[in-house]
Amino acid sequence: DTLERKIAERTAELRRTNGELERANDELSRMQTVRRRLLSDISHELGTPITSIKGYSAAMMEGVITDDYGKYARRIYERTALMERLIDDLTELTKLETGQIAFDYKEVEAASFFRLLYRKYEPELPGDSYDYGWEETAVGPGEADSAIVKLDPIRIEQVVSNMMSNACKYTPAGGRIRMRLELRWGGPGQGAGEAVVSVIDSGPGIPEREAELIFDRFYRVQRTGAASAAGNGLGLAICKEIVGRHGGRIGVDSKPGEGSRFYFALPIRESAVPMAAPYGRKE
Ligand code: ADP
Repeated sequence: DTLERKIAERTAELRRTNGELERANDELSRMQTVRRRLLSDISHELGTPITSIKGYSAAMMEGVITDDYGKYARRIYERTALMERLIDDLTELTKLETGQIAFDYKEVEAASFFRLLYRKYEPELPGDSYDYGWEETAVGPGEADSAIVKLDPIRIEQVVSNMMSNACKYTPAGGRIRMRLELRWGGPGQGAGEAVVSVIDSGPGIPEREAELIFDRFYRVQRTGAASAAGNGLGLAICKEIVGRHGGRIGVDSKPGEGSRFYFALPIRESAVPMAAPYGRKE
């Protein structure tokens, strides 16, 4: 009897250890995939700027370029800055993917947090070049000013800032840029609901078949003229990681030629559902 029990205990223990080993193994192969992809991204993406930096400096050294040094020095400088930005962003994305960045979560009241963020960009928008505004709506049983969300303020600001700078980058001056907060309170059995933050612009929009792809690393929509603004295609991939770590969703709605709405949704804290609401908090 005791022997049988000991065998049963030992078996259970082995099973646990086995499970742990399998998990560690999965984690290891995930890390290896990240590492492999990082190496291939670096060699692929740095190739172009390195080639032109080498070309310009060789031409200067060998006396092929004899005047206008300043112009070529500037080109070399710009390509170097591009490489620096790329390495910084790639490092950040990889750290996010491998959990090497610790998040500092705080419970904040959504409306006041995002209103403040909205105002922060007011002076940053170039002159009066955009019609900039704030919108706020609430649907469902909760109140407009009482949604608590758990977020890392610095990281979420990074997401908003990225969406805002894209809106400015791709929307011609004179266009419209809006920031919107929508509180979608959950009904019975749906949880507390979510806070949806959108950055809406009147820019060129995104072709429907590319709407998913732009959140992938390095994916950029082919554009012509002013809309082909500089970038490395990592911004939205970083946003996606950050929002994912918050247990949220990220996406875009767009009508090509009319504009885009980039949004992310964060879960409203369960305990934050007001007591008075018909589907109140679970005690
Ligand atoms: P980057 O802007 O550096 O190219 P992102 O990852 O931020 O990289 O964006 C990926 C692509 O999505 C961009 O190249 C652009 O084509 C498209 N995009 C992002 N924001 C907008 C926007 N507000 N309007 C139109 N296109 C956009």
